[in-house]
Amino acid sequence: TGIGLGGNKVRKLEFLLADAKNKGAEIVFTTGGAQSNHAMLTAACCKKLGMTPILILKKRGVTDRKGNILLEYLMNTDVRFLDTGDSADVYREMDRVGQESGKVYYKIPTGGSNALGALGYVNCVKEISEQTDIKFDYICCAEGSGGTHAGVAMGAKLFMPNTKVIGMMVDTDPFEEITTNIMKGLAELLELDFVPTVDDVHLVDVCGAGYAIPSPEGNAAIRMMAENEGLFLDPVYTGKAFGGLIQMAREGKFGPDDNILYLYSGGAGGLFAIDVSLD
Ligand SMILES: *Cc1c(COP(=O)(O)O)cnc(C)c1O
Repeated sequence: TGIGLGGNKVRKLEFLLADAKNKGAEIVFTTGGAQSNHAMLTAACCKKLGMTPILILKKRGVTDRKGNILLEYLMNTDVRFLDTGDSADVYREMDRVGQESGKVYYKIPTGGSNALGALGYVNCVKEISEQTDIKFDYICCAEGSGGTHAGVAMGAKLFMPNTKVIGMMVDTDPFEEITTNIMKGLAELLELDFVPTVDDVHLVDVCGAGYAIPSPEGNAAIRMMAENEGLFLDPVYTGKAFGGLIQMAREGKFGPDDNILYLYSGGAGGLFAIDVSLD
């Protein structure tokens, strides 16, 4: 997923921006916190595809020209901040700006996490199943808006039915309900008979003090992987999720012969904006 430093939102955007193109969209709106990887990648993909991205970001987190905001600046992106915690305000603002432009516009929800976007992660598991003969007991991923986990869980149902999928929650939203609902949407899109329930959703809380606030376990995981593998986890998603996985292993939650696939989902932009203190 090479564009824009890569990251997991590209898989969702493959489907979402195809839909936007098919509908003749000239402007694409999306939202998130100030350092949203999703918003940055939406901008990168839109620019490449010849659509105009407008990011209406919530004033939450680091708003200086650092990390993803810097990358958006380099891409000459229209970034606007709205001082609200309520998504309804954001979507109203998108409609206001869109209608005023007189152009065809397309709205992508936070994290690209609807059923259409999550299709990218059904595909991901299909690819994993085709690329390896390893029987994975678990797939573990970070969970911030639910689409990744929902797509992976549905993909596992279809292509790796003996694999349990665990979402590591880095925020405090009601993820059981959110993930189940996106899975239900996926089942409809894919015209499956299977009706997902909360029993199909497995969650572990790794949020710590709050979304985008680095945690000691997450920071330790960032150091561990950087020091040993040359792999840079980020403080918002992949560090916390991997830290949680290490903790589960230490607590004996996995058997010695279990094969565990950790889905590394990118997010490098956050590393250059958020203070990760290891001392
Ligand atoms: C958004 C994001 C996630 C989580 O995906 P959701 O579909 O939002 O739950 C994980 N890792 C990174 C780097 C992300 O940007």
